[in-house]
Amino acid sequence: MNLTFFLPTRLILDENCVSKNAAKFTECGKKAMIVTGKNSAKASGALDDVVAVLEQGRTEWILFDKIENNPSMETVEEAGKIAKAEGVDFVIGIGGGSPIDAAKAIAVLAANDMKTTDLFLNQFTKALKILAVPTTAGTGSEATPYSVLLRKDLQTKMGFGNPLTFPVYAFLDAKYTVSLSKNFTISTAVDAFTHCLEGYMANRSTIMSDAIALSAIEAFGRAIPALGRDTLTLKERELLLYISMIGGVTIAQTGVTAPHGLGYCYTYFKDVPHGVANGYFMREYLKLHEEVRKDKVASALAALGYTTIDAFADALDTLIGPAPALTAEEVEEYTKLSLLQKGSLSNTPYPMTEDSVHSLWTKMARL
Ligand code: NAP
Ligand code: FE
Repeated sequence: MNLTFFLPTRLILDENCVSKNAAKFTECGKKAMIVTGKNSAKASGALDDVVAVLEQGRTEWILFDKIENNPSMETVEEAGKIAKAEGVDFVIGIGGGSPIDAAKAIAVLAANDMKTTDLFLNQFTKALKILAVPTTAGTGSEATPYSVLLRKDLQTKMGFGNPLTFPVYAFLDAKYTVSLSKNFTISTAVDAFTHCLEGYMANRSTIMSDAIALSAIEAFGRAIPALGRDTLTLKERELLLYISMIGGVTIAQTGVTAPHGLGYCYTYFKDVPHGVANGYFMREYLKLHEEVRKDKVASALAALGYTTIDAFADALDTLIGPAPALTAEEVEEYTKLSLLQKGSLSNTPYPMTEDSVHSLWTKMARL
């Protein structure tokens, strides 16, 4: 057996976990920078809860609330300069993946004298402590070291992350996710599920990551009926938060595979939300893997509570709808672009050659 499992984050999933763990905030330092987007940290009540524990512990804090969806390098650079000038010694990201990813970048920039573009070299050896309070249930960023930033200079998104950019604490409280819309809840839940399923199939999967991923695959099967309804109970929201967190725990060990690499084309060219784009591939992805991961496909289906791939994929379709039809030209273009996604393709057990990627896009296109 060849097994490595590294997770330095203390994950705390509980009702009112922020106020119940006030001492954990104060132990992190004397002055915090809270990093958020424009509205949701306030609207969800998470910001008030965090400020209350900081005030109670007489911890100084400043707020940086300008993180965009898909945080840019320019914005984290600005926040990093402020954090340094203000002598901040820890960073709290509150929000979806965007503010949490931004908090990771700010924690590195504030602790080092470095160019922002050098983040992507992953060679930094210092970072401020990072705390994460998710208000979405999808990316699992609270349990990964990854930070994905928008590089306007290169017209793409780029990620970095090393062991220092795992949050030290993640506080997961489902009440912060109650205000998410139905569509956003579905697309992010499907993203979280695909992290678990792809991590389960991945070449880099281990006996230990498999056990963890399978527990969340099973939970997703139970969540499907709730996702079809207009409102979810707090317990159901908590289950989604669990799936998201486990998705992060899983991909931090295993990485992602072909759907994440290929789904980018739907998002970029057809404006399809990231989770939905990955979800479109599930039927064909599972069918391909019946050839090379027969046992795992069977275990995943059993955990989900379905007897056939088509029955599961049909249930998923009722949540996310069918993939858009594509033209023959689009199939050629998407194939070419997909082949650039070397990391996720080489981590996919079914060989992702030019021919198999082309054939997968041809099936997806319904030509
Ligand atoms: P997000 O970009 O953080 O937020 C999307 C929108 O949802 C924002 O308008 C946000 O509002 C709003 N929102 C957040 N919480 C809400 C709530 N409780 N109620 C209502 N609205 C709420 O969304 P995300 O999908 O969580 O994160 C996406 C980012 O994560 C991308 O940049 C992606 O590249 C990255 N990502 C990271 C990892 C990782 O491992 N680090 C993995 C996958 C994806 P506000 O702006 O007001 O906050
Ligand atoms: Fe994802």
